[in-house]
Amino acid sequence: MEMQFQSILLPGIDAKRPLVISGPCSAESEEQVLQTAHELAKTGVKIFRAGIWKPRTKPGGFEGVGVIGLPWLKKVKEQTGMYTAVEVATERHVFEALKHGVDILWIGARTTANPFAMQEIADALKGVDIPVLVKNPVNPDLELWIGAIERLYNAGLTRIGAIHRGFSTYDKKIYRNQPAWHIAIELRRRLPNLPIVCDPSHIGGKRELISPLCQQAMDLGFDGLIVETHCNPDCAWSDKSQQITPETLGLILDTLVIRDTTQSTESLSTLRHQIDQMDDQLLELLAKRMRISGEIAQYKKEHNMPVLQTGRYDEILTKRVNQGVEMNMSDEFLKTVFEAIHEESVRHQIELINK
Ligand code: PEP
Ligand code: MN
Repeated sequence: MEMQFQSILLPGIDAKRPLVISGPCSAESEEQVLQTAHELAKTGVKIFRAGIWKPRTKPGGFEGVGVIGLPWLKKVKEQTGMYTAVEVATERHVFEALKHGVDILWIGARTTANPFAMQEIADALKGVDIPVLVKNPVNPDLELWIGAIERLYNAGLTRIGAIHRGFSTYDKKIYRNQPAWHIAIELRRRLPNLPIVCDPSHIGGKRELISPLCQQAMDLGFDGLIVETHCNPDCAWSDKSQQITPETLGLILDTLVIRDTTQSTESLSTLRHQIDQMDDQLLELLAKRMRISGEIAQYKKEHNMPVLQTGRYDEILTKRVNQGVEMNMSDEFLKTVFEAIHEESVRHQIELINK
């Protein structure tokens, strides 16, 4: 389906990259909301975010202040002139947010992953003209992300944007949520006129990663940034290790290098980023393969089996080389790669068995 999106920019907001949305993970009190908003307004931020209803992994955590926080956001608008944005996950959230004059809605990652919830929100928004930003689903599923966008579009919304917040993984490594940039890049290819905002806070999960992630997002041609800020991050009620002060955000924004995305060097750097990302994935996969091969060595040791089983080796080599040739790679290259992998794997197994 061909979707034609309208601009998500509101009156008075500059079309220059990056579009910046900032504010606390959660609204906690009127004072915290207003203080953070005033500090952000000083750095020139025009859109204030705050979570009113918080989806939590386990019950018992802070689940947001709820509707009592919406009048605080109204005060933010009156006192600072900023626009406000909140996350909605149900039909009731939509009605309450609209009733209280919220300007922009966003859909959280857990909600995007749920087609029933998405349809309920889309139905609740029929006939309403408001910008809606759709976070990627928690799992790396581009079709599910596009599907959520389509549900809103089919309900008549055209001011739609996407937020890339990374993908949940079982092994937490450097990032809280794996960036998997190639998925956002593929979204751009599929829906070229859809604005994409990067959420370095939920990708990084740590303060020190916010600045490099913002720069990376700009280098990859993202349109905007949504960054969690708090007047007193160490005391935040949710996501405190990733929240920064409005002042730090100001410094980060001042040092960002914004390159012209229309220049050819930009496409080159986008492609190089893709290559770097893939090399990272290759390394992770190779390391995982070695670990599993180690488990096989253990099994062979326990069952008194030889390390090298020729039948298995031939199977790997012939099958993989044929498969790779089908994928337009040369058989010489494929033989070199698989022989090297297999050789290293055997060396590793012998080492383990003789331990
Ligand atoms: C948030 O923006 O605070 C949030 C809950 O994010 P996500 O849906 O990306 O986890
Ligand atoms: Mn958060």
